[in-house]
Amino acid sequence: MKLELRGITKRFGSLVANENINLVVESGEIRSLLGENGAGKSTLMNVLYGLYQADGGEILLDGKVQAFKGPGDAMAAGIGMVHQHFMLIPVFTVAENVVLGNEPVNAIGGLDLDTARARVKEISDRFGFDVDPDALVEDLPVGIQQRVEIIKALTRNAKVLVLDEPTAVLTPQETDELMQIMRELAKSGTSIIFITHKLREVQAVADKITVIRQGKVVGEADPKASASELASLMVGREVDLQVEKAANKVGEVVLSVANVSVLDDREQRAVDNVSFEVRAGEILAIAGVQGNGQTELSEALLGLRHTIKGGGDITLGGQVLNNLSVRKHLEAGIGYVPEDRKKDGLVSEFSIAENFMLNGSFGKPFTKGINIDFASRDEISAKLIEEFDVRTQSASTPAGKLSGGNQQKVVVARELSRDVKLLIASQPTRGVDVGSIEFIHERIVAERDSGRAVILISTELDEVLALADRIAVMYRGRIVGIVDAKTSRETLGKMMAGVAA
Ligand code: ADP
Ligand code: MG
Repeated sequence: MKLELRGITKRFGSLVANENINLVVESGEIRSLLGENGAGKSTLMNVLYGLYQADGGEILLDGKVQAFKGPGDAMAAGIGMVHQHFMLIPVFTVAENVVLGNEPVNAIGGLDLDTARARVKEISDRFGFDVDPDALVEDLPVGIQQRVEIIKALTRNAKVLVLDEPTAVLTPQETDELMQIMRELAKSGTSIIFITHKLREVQAVADKITVIRQGKVVGEADPKASASELASLMVGREVDLQVEKAANKVGEVVLSVANVSVLDDREQRAVDNVSFEVRAGEILAIAGVQGNGQTELSEALLGLRHTIKGGGDITLGGQVLNNLSVRKHLEAGIGYVPEDRKKDGLVSEFSIAENFMLNGSFGKPFTKGINIDFASRDEISAKLIEEFDVRTQSASTPAGKLSGGNQQKVVVARELSRDVKLLIASQPTRGVDVGSIEFIHERIVAERDSGRAVILISTELDEVLALADRIAVMYRGRIVGIVDAKTSRETLGKMMAGVAA
């Protein structure tokens, strides 16, 4: 089915999330929508899916103008969408989930599960999904759950399939398999809109790329375009993607983690008997698909979460730290860039300057006796804003008013400007524009070169490969292996799925 969006405009109050967007996707085409966080990609797709009403413009399918009042209308017209957060019911089987809300009924009015099963099997076989209709969703890996969502859309006869950042939760191999499925679907005539911010992926699978920046289409590109061309289109200026990194000089062990286990909020063992060391002058990356215990591990390293009693210790420069207060951890010399800047990194209502003080307010250089040294604070703030290129009118702007990328720069500036032995950077570039990623990466490498021990926790394999000296891969709470930074993407991908190197 041919899809045409004409002049779509969508506002949220005074914010124009989509401005006069035109897009034509032919039948059987794989179109990538490429854009930074906040560019307006999901908004546009939510308009297409009937979740939002546009303030202007129209949607045409095979030349006919549509009026979607809700997702039901969009689905009925042949639009399918797989959201980033799946909407499956864990305790139901695949077949039950697929028919949920659209149940086939047998002669006596009961749920006809045989038909549902047969439908799943047929689609699964046809496109190589390899999904068992009778498996419980909760037992399936995330990559397979995602296929269930796609099957669900296809059983509703989706002719245009929207995949919104589908690879964020996948291993590299699962990503390759998804791309294969996309190609098969496209061959059968399904039009696919594939949203991502990963350049490598659009280059691999797209027929055509539409780049969106600040709510507007800023260009169309061919998948043969180079990564730096695409990145420049995304951010609107020249971007250098290469991180310069010389060989490192490794010093003594700074942090030692020995047989440490940590519970998550549901009292499950999220970190399971993990051991590793980090030395001065090295970057140890902790790689893995999101949700394999990295969050809980990083929280335990800062004392935000306790380790299980009877297990081993977390030792920094000879001092046993586990289960001491967060403040004790900070005083022992840890810098910490949290993965969730809103929850753990910033106080949104506080000004940028106040946020710069958060971890330093109990010592120099922000205090004079028991008072805040405002002159010193303002001087340091001005310097950090300049150095880390925080885009703001003034240091007194509340941090919550900044864009996500600039909020991240505030946290990174604060943590990298403290004199620490160990820097823990968790997803340090999440939501940051491509142009600023390089800058943050360079700063992290500079920390390592100045002799600090660095732990980089990242679900982005490109980031891991760009920065790491050694790579530990986590899977289901365990460290599957600790390998050299030259290890192939393929081997790392297997480790991310639990296969030991
Ligand atoms: P993308 O998917 O490209 O990351 P989004 O479409 O989610 O971007 O967001 C585009 C802009 O619209 C952002 O500035 C975002 O904060 C804003 N936005 C998105 N949804 C809403 C909403 N429901 N209410 C207000 N603002 C929103
Ligand atoms: Mg989005």
